[in-house]
Amino acid sequence: MKVYGLTGGIGSGKTTIRQLIEALGIPTLDADAIGRELVAPNQPGLVKIVQTFGSDVLTEQGELNRAALRQRILENPDAKHKLEAILHPMIRERTQAAIEQLRRQNPPAIVVEIPLLAETGKPDYIDETIVLDLPEAMQLQRALQRGTLPEADIRRLMENQASREARLAIADHVIRTDPPLERIKQTLQTLLEDRN
Ligand code: ATP
Repeated sequence: MKVYGLTGGIGSGKTTIRQLIEALGIPTLDADAIGRELVAPNQPGLVKIVQTFGSDVLTEQGELNRAALRQRILENPDAKHKLEAILHPMIRERTQAAIEQLRRQNPPAIVVEIPLLAETGKPDYIDETIVLDLPEAMQLQRALQRGTLPEADIRRLMENQASREARLAIADHVIRTDPPLERIKQTLQTLLEDRN
């Protein structure tokens, strides 16, 4: 049984493909969701963030004030490293624990979505990486079509993320997400249902 790390740039189809994988009966985890849980009120990630950055990164309701934290990071590049030094080890630990739980069900494979896999490097618990690949123009088009971010923000995110080439360089498996979903589903089935 292998543990796969699933990654891809903005609009590359991570959410869509993860749902397809779940529909095949293969369990998945989402490193970003685990990260969000860690910064919920009273959770250890948020506690540590407040110890490091002070209580002005909290809202009046005791939630993480993302805008305030973003401002801190803009003002001081070192703050970004501090934040990552707090959260990344915690995310890794929780993800690893969740993988161990899932292993007990003896699934054909486990897939962990890690959006920043190319940026942060492959953690030990990932056996192989799956990179979702799409020409950048289509990435932009799909992210725009979803309508949650303006074009300038999407372009800025794309510039700050790993390049398409850098992502392909860490890929054990590349899945193009421009074909129809039915075709992608067959590719995934062949890859993930083979219990090696
Ligand atoms: P983000 O990084 O912004 O969260 P994402 O990588 O999770 O994005 P999705 O939200 O899954 O990407 O996909 C982006 C858009 O592309 C969605 O509107 C989705 O419906 C569409 N899409 C994904 N795969 C395909 C496909 N094979 N054919 C057509 N449209 C697709």
